[in-house]
Amino acid sequence: MSKHQIGYTIFGVFTLFYVYGYIVNGWSVIYYVSFFVLWFVMVLYGSFFIRSNYHLKAISSVKTDERVVSITFDDGPTVHTNAVLDILKKGGHKASFFCIGQRIQENPLMAERIVKEGHSIENHTYSHSKHISFASTKKLIEEIEKTDEIIKRQTGVKPQFFRPPYGVTNPNFMRTIRQSKHVVIGWNIRSLDTVIESEDKILKRITKLVKNGSIILLHDTSEKSIIVLERLLQYLNDNNYRSVTVDELLKLRKK
Ligand SMILES: [Zn+2]
Repeated sequence: MSKHQIGYTIFGVFTLFYVYGYIVNGWSVIYYVSFFVLWFVMVLYGSFFIRSNYHLKAISSVKTDERVVSITFDDGPTVHTNAVLDILKKGGHKASFFCIGQRIQENPLMAERIVKEGHSIENHTYSHSKHISFASTKKLIEEIEKTDEIIKRQTGVKPQFFRPPYGVTNPNFMRTIRQSKHVVIGWNIRSLDTVIESEDKILKRITKLVKNGSIILLHDTSEKSIIVLERLLQYLNDNNYRSVTVDELLKLRKK
């Protein structure tokens, strides 16, 4: 049972309890409205913060004694992915790429290069539509299966991990993942590289939080993120960290 299902059940029981109190003792509506607002805020928080594991279990970091982190790139492959791969190669670091199926079809060679150079390619839906959080379970299953097929056809590898667009989850995603059997990967360091303009600020956001087992979210979608990546790898090198794929990171988990 997910946290949401438990919360929903409690809300249902409270509603029945309140209706009884309202009829028999004339309880004020304020009690019910307050409880509803509390419950609603909890659902919103759980839906927007993947680390809360509210709708489904997501891995957002790992406990390990090794000085390793996992840099993850969302929303590619794009025209910037080659530069990202060049920088990773030069620094000897590995990363996981949560790719959009449609973009793999547009940039198939980059998907191949990701795998060939020892990184991992994972599922980030086919369309990454702005409205995907409102999609039905059937539609989500289609999105994920189609992307898995494209990745398998292009690289020979079947993705084992999935990351929901925008990190937003809901009961439909929970049902979808239960069926697709992907492991859901979140992050514990959100760079906000698609929002913040200053590379300095983005880098600082990341480096102040880096520790063993961190999962860092970047996007291979802009020049800015490439500059941040170069400086981040320098920071990791200076502090004896290395970046590995999410798969590797999970293997280095403290037993
Ligand atoms: Zn995304």
